[in-house]
Amino acid sequence: MKIDWADRVATMEDPAVKMMLKITQRTDVISFAGGLPSAKTFPVDRLAAAYAAVLKEQGGAALQYSLAEGYPPLRELLAQRLERSGIACKPENIVITSGSQQAIDFIGRLLLNPGDLIAVENPAYLAALQPFRSYQASFLPVPMDNDGMDVDALARQLKKARPKFIYVNPTFQNPTGITLSLERRRRLGELAASREILLLEDNPYGELRFGGADIPPIKSLADSDWAMYTGTFSKVIAPGLRVGWFVAHPEIAAKVTAAKQLNDILTNSLTQRALHRFLTDTDLDAHIATIIGQYRRQRDAMLAALAAYFPGNVSWTQPEGGMFIWVTLPPGLDARDLLTKAIDEAKVAFVPGTPFHTDGGGHNTFRLSFANTGEEEIASGIARLGALLARHM
Ligand code: PMP
Repeated sequence: MKIDWADRVATMEDPAVKMMLKITQRTDVISFAGGLPSAKTFPVDRLAAAYAAVLKEQGGAALQYSLAEGYPPLRELLAQRLERSGIACKPENIVITSGSQQAIDFIGRLLLNPGDLIAVENPAYLAALQPFRSYQASFLPVPMDNDGMDVDALARQLKKARPKFIYVNPTFQNPTGITLSLERRRRLGELAASREILLLEDNPYGELRFGGADIPPIKSLADSDWAMYTGTFSKVIAPGLRVGWFVAHPEIAAKVTAAKQLNDILTNSLTQRALHRFLTDTDLDAHIATIIGQYRRQRDAMLAALAAYFPGNVSWTQPEGGMFIWVTLPPGLDARDLLTKAIDEAKVAFVPGTPFHTDGGGHNTFRLSFANTGEEEIASGIARLGALLARHM
């Protein structure tokens, strides 16, 4: 078949990434590759009860078309929860989206013309880069260190280039696990406001903190209309629900609602109501505490195994939460070559760092997830990977 696809289609899939993700899904390997939360944490029974109660009590209303911006009681409840994290907002600032992924896509769709620039962390969340690329945008990669995006470097870059917006995942970042420092958050918020550049803060992992002090979201520090925010139930309840939220100035929220209307009319109505019911009946913080307990044990197991089994010239991040650890090999090594060997010889998978980079770099880096593997498997998988590294380095 010879199909005349639109130009943007060429940017939607990267065959190398597709190939890489495919081999990491082999069933005979221990996979630290996926970004999946642990299904053991999903509150299946309580969700079943919430869905049943909503259907019984609300009947057809729960199955009807409804407002594109989302179920008002859920938006009300989210506004209260966001207020607690310091984000002052009203329901009119909030749009319920089909996961935060949809909010990211909408921001791309609403703001990007072909050739526009977006400032991103280098490395950045791959599945945000992909939709932005599909709108034929280019990237301004901003270097990172252990305190997150280098905001001084961004300020210098902004003297020469003007991105349409800045996209950041500042807390327990995917892929590095790194958290942007408080001081840098303040400066980033001020920088965006003073240059009148929109900033999208993507925060799916912020509530999964295992240690250290809480750092407020940029949106709560930047008292400005230029800061936008997106969150999700994917990592604190379950990703299959596909419910996230977008928070911004009402003028921006209205545009996102318009995009929502065009794209899928509204987020699953039954699920929004069931989630509202679940959140009313359940102590979400207590539930999150159990997820944190499990992930903390798994992170500790991974950090201990890395220290025990990885060669001395390899380094890695020490995340205080979230799901990921980022490994840096000595320069000159390529994690893509290593992945092939890791699968064949060690039966262990990870995600090489190259596709997260928009500057063509990161060959000697890779991402490990500790969320979806038990402590024993973590220890044996990392031991096997360490032995492989020692053989090939
Ligand atoms: N942003 C980041 C940084 C993520 O890691 C993810 C999930 N992998 C998402 C957004 C999307 O999450 P969801 O659409 O399930 O809310």
